[in-house]
Amino acid sequence: GGGSDVLSVSNLEVVYNDVILVLRGVSLTVEEGTIVALLGANGAGKTTLLRAVTGLLDVHDGAITKGEVHFEGRPIQRWAPSRIVGAGLGQVLEGRRVFGEFSVEENLRVGGHTRRGGLTSAIDEVYDLFPVLRERRKQTAGYLSGGEQQMLAMGRALIAQPRLLLLDEPSLGLAPRIVAQIKDIVVEINRRGTTVLLVEQNAAMALSIAHHGYVMEHGKVVMDRPAAELLADDDIRDFYLGRG
Ligand code: ATP
Repeated sequence: GGGSDVLSVSNLEVVYNDVILVLRGVSLTVEEGTIVALLGANGAGKTTLLRAVTGLLDVHDGAITKGEVHFEGRPIQRWAPSRIVGAGLGQVLEGRRVFGEFSVEENLRVGGHTRRGGLTSAIDEVYDLFPVLRERRKQTAGYLSGGEQQMLAMGRALIAQPRLLLLDEPSLGLAPRIVAQIKDIVVEINRRGTTVLLVEQNAAMALSIAHHGYVMEHGKVVMDRPAAELLADDDIRDFYLGRG
């Protein structure tokens, strides 16, 4: 306790196409300086929650019908996505999209379009975090490996120096060695001062670095506990967390 909540979601209800109720009263908080893991099976509603927080429900024919989303104390649930990013809420969503025809460095410059000055040093900081991106800075992003594209997508989000970073399944489809690298980098990003909300199917990975964990099921939060407790509980591992 004691820290303030960077993100606070309360009693959130979300529908798609005016009919399908997908989030059914979700509440969740992310305390400043922490890594929070959001876990749950396919279809539990994790991505929908991230869309609600980032203002991206519209594009998927979804809408908030009840509840509130606060970022650093301000209600953002009616804000446009660009305004939310500009306020300091960064995101790497759904399939690590990079601009495939552009170089690594051009991708990072795009991420910095909202910055005032300091772009070169910001790019250098990203290269320090991901040395492989420095090596490949002139290469076309579309030819990077899956892990490198994930790193580039994360790097691009970090250029804007967000205070809260949302990551949607950064380990998806990557080899264990690369997952381990991504994990270390998330820890380092957090150590440098960015709060992280990490959505993962890889529960063991997420809980091993998170301070707190939430488990979702059928559009509801069914568990809300310190990550170490979730990791230590055999029943929880078996019933809720699947592999890992
Ligand atoms: P995943 O790991 O597969 O992304 P998830 O926990 O993130 O799962 P969501 O993607 O949020 O779950 O999906 C929650 C529910 O909402 C699912 O039943 C899904 O079919 C439904 N859903 C998602 N997007 C839409 C959409 N655009 N229109 C209608 N239903 C949708």
